[in-house]
Amino acid sequence: MNPTIEESLEEASPAEAVPSNFADLGLAPAFLDAVRDAGYTTPTPIQLQAIPLALKGRDLIGLAQTGTGKTAAFTLPILQRLAQDAAPNGRGPRGPRALVLTPTRELAAQVDESFAKYGKHTKAKALAVYGGVALDPQERALRRGVDVVIATPGRLLDHLERGTVKFDDLEVLVLDEADRMLDMGFAPQINRVVAQVPKYRQTMLFSATMLPEVEALARRYLRRPVVVQVGRRSEAANTVTHAVYPVPRDRKSALLVELLSHSDMDSVLVFTRTKHGADRLVRHLERAGMLATAMHADKTQSQRTRALEGFREGTIRVLVATDIAQRGLDISGISHVINYDVPQQPEDYVHRIGRTGRAAQTGDAYTFMSTDEIAMVRTIERLIGQPIPRISVPGYDFGTVAAD
Ligand code: AMP
Repeated sequence: MNPTIEESLEEASPAEAVPSNFADLGLAPAFLDAVRDAGYTTPTPIQLQAIPLALKGRDLIGLAQTGTGKTAAFTLPILQRLAQDAAPNGRGPRGPRALVLTPTRELAAQVDESFAKYGKHTKAKALAVYGGVALDPQERALRRGVDVVIATPGRLLDHLERGTVKFDDLEVLVLDEADRMLDMGFAPQINRVVAQVPKYRQTMLFSATMLPEVEALARRYLRRPVVVQVGRRSEAANTVTHAVYPVPRDRKSALLVELLSHSDMDSVLVFTRTKHGADRLVRHLERAGMLATAMHADKTQSQRTRALEGFREGTIRVLVATDIAQRGLDISGISHVINYDVPQQPEDYVHRIGRTGRAAQTGDAYTFMSTDEIAMVRTIERLIGQPIPRISVPGYDFGTVAAD
């Protein structure tokens, strides 16, 4: 029901043939030689999916563990970008153009080796910078100038604070093993590093899992990312959780405020049946102190674009949309979809919840069901072939309060 990876990839490269070897991925001869020298004959699945997108400059979320070939999946495109535009930009020597953050020094060293291995026919210079060893040699190397820095967040901050390195020329940022970095408590350091790199850049995030914290990181730092994933696919594809809230029609807005006030839902797409319903609901949410905006046919394209940007950047928490807004809406990192009105067409339920889980692979879909919508919910359950669990909120469930 939510084959979001394929959808994302289709969007990124509509009618192109599926590549199957390194030459089809768009890599230049210097890199084809390097992978051949490394003894690789066929790209791994993550390489097949990620390399063409990375070469196009797209932001990526790569859900892949160590051992899948993920390092080459970001190293090769970075090296190719460096080689394509190697001349200095007239402002004197350039600062590093790519930065890879890793959780451990072992991983930093491995990634550094990959840059050496795949970049052996180019002039790119990479440097690993991690703690536990003397600062001075790293400092000297950084001052001499490198193209790629591979670093653990803490040690990199030391260098940034000493002014040994500046990222004004940075073009590509990679967060490798993002889940492990967060596990190790590096979130504050990552935030401080990213605050010092240019806003316009390509960002690639790799993680074995898509936990909410990773999702939040991705939402913060990536722009319209494409998700590529290998392994454990069915598990992740089933992470959308459905629930139905029985509630009288005239209590729906109060229930929504209640849910939003007591939860960590941080980017919520709410569907209403009518434009007026959407506008009314936005006013209600605003009165309750929530950042909300409406999106429907009466809104101009620029209003819609602004609404989407605000939603992506987190300045708008709730986007209230009618069905027209639903298709082709590419919103990454939606945590929740709420069907404020049960969709008239059961197929629309599937489309709507396809909005969540799209980039993040997680997300919840809640449906508010008044008494006159019970039959429509049953039809949806028949279509999706499974019952949707009911959640009863005391004081709101029409089974426990007077019917509307
Ligand atoms: P990684 O997941 O990046 O840690 O890579 C795991 C191992 O797979 C590394 O030792 C790589 O050298 C190797 N490797 C990467 N890409 C390929 C490939 N296309 N074919 C064979 N081995 C590869």
